[in-house]
Amino acid sequence: MEMNEEYWQAIVRCDASYDGRFYYGVASTGIFCRPSCRSRTPAEKNVTVFREFEEALAAGYRPCKRCKPDELTAPSEAWVAAMAELIEQRLSEPFTLDTLAERMHGSPYHLQRMFKHLRGVTPAQYAQEKRIERAKQLLSGTGMTVAAVAAQVGMPNSAHFATVFAAKTGVTPTQYRRQSIAAQEDTTDERIESKA
Ligand SMILES: [Zn+2]
Repeated sequence: MEMNEEYWQAIVRCDASYDGRFYYGVASTGIFCRPSCRSRTPAEKNVTVFREFEEALAAGYRPCKRCKPDELTAPSEAWVAAMAELIEQRLSEPFTLDTLAERMHGSPYHLQRMFKHLRGVTPAQYAQEKRIERAKQLLSGTGMTVAAVAAQVGMPNSAHFATVFAAKTGVTPTQYRRQSIAAQEDTTDERIESKA
């Protein structure tokens, strides 16, 4: 990535809202930092910016002992877990990355990047997965109508819900319910037979 005025100002101001968006290496010291680091502001000509801390390491820079730019894993795991929980609690509401970012006090870009890095899917994809899981439970475990299930999992347009559900599971919500009822009846039959 290229240095620009925005990044340079973030470095000068030690702006923590840029943490996770880039790292910077200082050629004269061989050390790299997070934007928020309070170490002395380097001369701009000595600074190289990197998107990922791994790139700074690969370029031969050592992590700063003060801001520990390579130690992201522990705090961000807790953060991502909190984000996942928040998504799960709000499945019945429309999902937007901006709302989530506001609640998590992070930039949407950083949030999405950390989440994807640790979970392998974006927050939106994760919400989608959880909605389908929850819909499956409701379809097999309750007598709710498909429209009610759709609304419950935050997809009030039931035609859209049915399309997404079918794309993810290979069957429509109605077929899924029929199959799960049939499967439950099979187990009941087996139980009766083994008793006899
Ligand atoms: Zn530093």
